[in-house]
Amino acid sequence: MSQVSDAEQTVRPPRQLHELFGFRQACACGRVHQVDLQGAVVGPGAIEQVVDWVASLGRGLSLAMVVDARTWQVAGQRVQALLEADGHSARICTLADGAGGRPHADEKTLGVVRQALTGCDLALAVGSGTINDLTKLASFQLQLPYLAVATAPSMNGYTSAIAAIMRDGIKRTVSCHQPLAVIADMDLLVKAPRHLIASGLADLESKPTSTADFRLAGLLRGDYYCPAPEEVVLSAEARVAEAASAIGRADPEAIALLTEALLLSGISMRLAGTSSPASGGEHLISHHWDMLAPYEGRVEGWHGHQVGVATIVTSSLYESLRELDPSSIDPDAIIAGRKPKEQLRRELRLRHGPLADLVEPEFFAKHLDDEALRAELEQIRDGWDALWQKLDTVLRPAARVREILKAVGAPTRMSELQLSDEHLRRSFLEAREIRGRFTVLDLAADLGLLERLAPEVLARAACMSEGA
Ligand SMILES: [Zn+2]
Ligand SMILES: [Zn+2]
Repeated sequence: MSQVSDAEQTVRPPRQLHELFGFRQACACGRVHQVDLQGAVVGPGAIEQVVDWVASLGRGLSLAMVVDARTWQVAGQRVQALLEADGHSARICTLADGAGGRPHADEKTLGVVRQALTGCDLALAVGSGTINDLTKLASFQLQLPYLAVATAPSMNGYTSAIAAIMRDGIKRTVSCHQPLAVIADMDLLVKAPRHLIASGLADLESKPTSTADFRLAGLLRGDYYCPAPEEVVLSAEARVAEAASAIGRADPEAIALLTEALLLSGISMRLAGTSSPASGGEHLISHHWDMLAPYEGRVEGWHGHQVGVATIVTSSLYESLRELDPSSIDPDAIIAGRKPKEQLRRELRLRHGPLADLVEPEFFAKHLDDEALRAELEQIRDGWDALWQKLDTVLRPAARVREILKAVGAPTRMSELQLSDEHLRRSFLEAREIRGRFTVLDLAADLGLLERLAPEVLARAACMSEGA
């Protein structure tokens, strides 16, 4: 995915959606930033253009359309009528509802989609999160192009080149491809269920913390970082935050703004070649709740809703860390207080039970030995102001995140997610262990403060029914 580049300049990608189609430029970060998406139609009546995109690939094609019972009603049958009027016929794959009355992105359902797509020339995903992810992944595996017909501005996955799927009990992000084009008909999207619209906005509101985490991992761990991906999404995200109330009222212009920002967020991940710019510690907390769901006999909540609440929490953690006196960072004391590796391993086994084998390599991928930790702690202590200068420009106060989520009607408390306060206490401490990605949760852990700061951070976040 990441071709090597020896360009001298950091790419300044365009910020307008239409200028990014087919974009390709080598960058000083060593990668070639590339967008495979050839188009996106955002506007009233956009669905009519499905036939133009199909025709752009040829005539007499064999098509397969993936829907569920709801998206068939909302858009699928209209798409089929348009295709038939233009002389095409499409095989229809209707995904069955699972727990919670909706389909799920798991290996079994992926198999169903792959079978439906086998032998076709083009796949159409008519739906949002799960339908889009499964069609994207199955079409990638079969080396087919696919068209995304949006039914709700509920997530940023329409234009990303990754799909989330539950594999062996862990939510995995799998690399695949972008669609040929996205059709986002505003006549349909303004009528999307309000909780899905709120989910899309809430997912987008994680960009300040996910971008800060992306920067942090680059600064402290030397992980891949480039400013080009975040440039395409941050200004669009800021406009959406300002329009949160209008989005909550499903005002057509505001919904179009949200839709474009979500498409740009997906593109930023494609430009980065990783989900890092759009998925930090707040996403790990949400993924941890998803991972626990089958063991607790509950259904996963809406992605954006969970991410929104988790964003209040990680924003609060950034605030608490920001208030530290850097001279209080004592590398000797922190290293002396570390648990031996064997003890950590035993504790991981206890905490993660059946998932421990999968969690352990992720956890130890970012676990530093004492000397490397000492160097990192000295870097943090001595470079404190410079570090926060890089983070402050993107972070948003937790109180403001809460206000934006409330304005769109998205959850801001654990009880609204149908999760307990204990879920938050637990995931705040354990979520960082499920993935090798370095986030603000790891910064707190490296400083020896994750547990100690928990009560203060959770009180500040005010997401629980009781005190922290
Ligand atoms: Zn770059
Ligand atoms: Zn997300």
